[in-house]
Amino acid sequence: MAKLSDPITILKGIGAARAKQFANLNIRTLQDLICHFPRGYEDRTRLITIGALEPDKPACFRAVVMNTPRTSHIRKGLDLTRVQAADHTGRINLTFFNSRFAAEQLRYGSEYIFYGTLTGDYAGYGMTNPVFESPDAPGVSTRRVLPIYPLTAGLSNGAVVRAVTQALAICEMPPEILPEPVRLRYDILPAEQAYRVIHQPETMAQAEQARKRMIFEEFFVFSAGLSLMRADRAGRRTPAYRELDLEPFYSALPFALTGAQRRAVDEILADFQRGTPMNRLVQGDVGSGKTMVAAAAAYCAGKNGRQTALMAPTEILAEQHYASLKKLLEPLGISLELLTGSMTPRQKRLIRERIASGEARVVVGTHALLTDTTQFHNLGLVIADEQHRFGVAQRSRLSEKGEDPHLLVMSATPIPRTLALLMYGDLDVSILDEMPPGREPVDTFLVGESYRPRINAFIRKQVQLGHQCFVVCPAVEENQELGIKAASAWAETLEQKVFPDLRVSLLHGQMKGAEKEETMGAFARGEADVLVATTVIEVGVDVPNATLMVIEDADRFGLSQLHQLRGRVGRGKAKSYCILTTHNRNPETLQRLKALCKTNDGFRIAEEDLKLRGPGDFFGSRQSGLPAFRVADLSYDLTTLKQAQAASTEWIDARGGEDSPEAEALRRRIGELFQRSKGTMN
Ligand code: ADP
Ligand code: MG
Repeated sequence: MAKLSDPITILKGIGAARAKQFANLNIRTLQDLICHFPRGYEDRTRLITIGALEPDKPACFRAVVMNTPRTSHIRKGLDLTRVQAADHTGRINLTFFNSRFAAEQLRYGSEYIFYGTLTGDYAGYGMTNPVFESPDAPGVSTRRVLPIYPLTAGLSNGAVVRAVTQALAICEMPPEILPEPVRLRYDILPAEQAYRVIHQPETMAQAEQARKRMIFEEFFVFSAGLSLMRADRAGRRTPAYRELDLEPFYSALPFALTGAQRRAVDEILADFQRGTPMNRLVQGDVGSGKTMVAAAAAYCAGKNGRQTALMAPTEILAEQHYASLKKLLEPLGISLELLTGSMTPRQKRLIRERIASGEARVVVGTHALLTDTTQFHNLGLVIADEQHRFGVAQRSRLSEKGEDPHLLVMSATPIPRTLALLMYGDLDVSILDEMPPGREPVDTFLVGESYRPRINAFIRKQVQLGHQCFVVCPAVEENQELGIKAASAWAETLEQKVFPDLRVSLLHGQMKGAEKEETMGAFARGEADVLVATTVIEVGVDVPNATLMVIEDADRFGLSQLHQLRGRVGRGKAKSYCILTTHNRNPETLQRLKALCKTNDGFRIAEEDLKLRGPGDFFGSRQSGLPAFRVADLSYDLTTLKQAQAASTEWIDARGGEDSPEAEALRRRIGELFQRSKGTMN
C-alpha cells in the first residue's frame, strides 16, 4: 500500500510533464491529490429513453447506432461527424465537432450509452458532442456522478479523475481526526469513507454528505485551534496590576465616558487583576469611542509600570492616535512615542532606544511594531486597532514576543454573530452598543449622475457653513474600461473646473507615507475644504468638522465598507450627510445601496451584506485574517459552521478526547493550519 507522502509520479501515466501540470495545482504527493476535492459534480446517473429526453436537461440514454458515421470537412480546422442513433422510442441526430474518436469508435449496429443535452434549432432537435461508452464496461463518463475538479492548462478533468481513482485504490487514507462521539452526534461520515465518497459518490446526496464532512472538519480544526489558543493563554501567568485608580484619567477627559465605554473599561480592569493575559475584543460601530477605551487601558498599564504597543493598520491612523493620545496622556505622566516606517533610520533608532529603555510608556505605530526589531523594556499591553486586519496568526504570534502581554483588539466592523464566533473564538468580547451623546444619524442619499449640479452646490454650501467634505473614489487612476471615477483625475476636475475658489486636496494609497500624513494632517487642521481620496481614509480617520461624504460609484464598494466610510462624518456636533452616486441600474445593486440609506446601524448593515454577498466578499479573506478554507464556502455553510463550532468547544472543554487516537492527528492538523496561515496572512 502506498503512503500519503509518496509522490504522484508513482501512479501510472504520471511522468515528469504531467507531474508539472499537477504541481501547478500544488499537487505533489498522493495526499495532495486525495485532498484535491471536486468543486462540483455532474449527475449523470439518469438513464432514460430517447423519447423521454427534454431540451436543456442533460441525461444518459442507451441507443444503437443506425448508420456509419459520416465526416465532412467544413473548413480548415472544422470537421463535422454526423451519425444517427435510435432506441425503441425514437431516433436522434448526433453531431460531433472535430472528433476523430467518435468517427473511429462509433460502429453501425452497435449499442452505446450516451450522455448529453438535447438542443433544438430550425432543423429540429439533436445532440452535439455527447460522450459515449460501451454498456458492457463500468461507467466512467456515463451512468455515474462525475466529479468536476479545479483544473489547470493541459490537465483535463478525465486525467484528474484517472489519477485520483488510482490513488484511492492503492493509497492509505488520511487519518481520522474527528472524535467518534462528535461524528455520531452530528451525523458525520468517517474519514476513510468520506475521502472515497467525495471523489466517487454514487448519488448526489452521498456527494453532499462527504462534502459536509470535509467542511465540518475544516471548521472543527480551525475552531479547536482557537479554543486551544484560548486555553493556552488561560494557563499563562502575568503579574496582576494593583494600581487601578482611573479617576485622574477620567477627570482629564473633556467628556464623560458613555455607559458602554465604562463597562468595557471595567471589564478590562477586571482582566488586568486576574494574573493571566487578557485576550479581549472591543467591538463598536464607527464613532462609538473605542480610542478612549484603548487610552484608559494604556493609562492603567502605564501606571503599573508597563509599556503599551498601540498598532494601527495605517500610518495615517497611527499618526492620529498618537496626536490625540499625546494630548491626553502626557499631562498624566504617561510618555508617548510614534514609530512608523516612513521615519528616517536615525529617528527610528532614537525612538527604539527610548522604547528599549522603558522611557517610552506607550508606543504608537503600525503592525510592524510586532514584527520588526523593536525591543520593549517590559511590554504589558498590545492594542490592535481595526482588528479584522490583525488575524489569528498574528494573535498567536504575540506570545512569541517573549512576553505574555495583555491583548486588546478593537474592531469597528460589526460582524454577524456566526462569523464573529469563527474569527474571535479565542477572545472575550466587550461591545460598545451606545454612541456618545448628541450624535445625529448621518442622512444618506442614493443619486444618479443627473444630480451632479446639486451635489456640487451642496458641497459648496457645506464649505460656506465652515465645514469640510470628503469625496471618495473607487480607484486612484483612470480606468477607461471600467469607466469608474479615479481619485487623481477627479480631484483635478474639481479643483480646476468645479471649485476653483475652494481648497481641494488629494489622498491615495500610492502616495508616500509622509506625503499622506501631511495631506491628512492639513485636512484635519482645516487647511483644505474638500479631500478627494480613495479608501485609505476608510478606517478610523477622525475629522469632526467634516460633515459631508460623497462616495462616487458607490456600487463598487461593499455595504460594510460604505458604512465604514460614512462613519468618517457625523463625528462632530453638526448635522452630517452622505451622498452615494452610481451609474449602475441593476435593481439588486440599487436595493443593496438603499439598505444603507435606511439605517445607520452597523450590525443590521452587516447582516444585510452577509445575506446579499456572503462573507467571502464581506471582508475579503485576506483582510479577515482567516485562513483560506479549502472546501468551506462561508456564504453557504453557516449551519455546518455553527455545528462544528459547538462540537469543538464541547470537545475542548470536556477534554474527554485527550488520549483518543484522533487527538494526536487533530493536534497535528491544527499545527499545520496555523502554520499555513502564518505564511499566507499579512
Ligand atoms: P471609534 O470607535 O470609531 O474609534 P473614536 O474613538 O475615534 O471612535 O471616537 C469618535 C469621536 O467621539 C472622537 O472625536 C472622540 O473624541 C469622541 N468621543 C469618544 N467618546 C466620547 C464620549 N464619551 N463623549 C463624547 N465624545 C466622545
Ligand atoms: Mg477608531
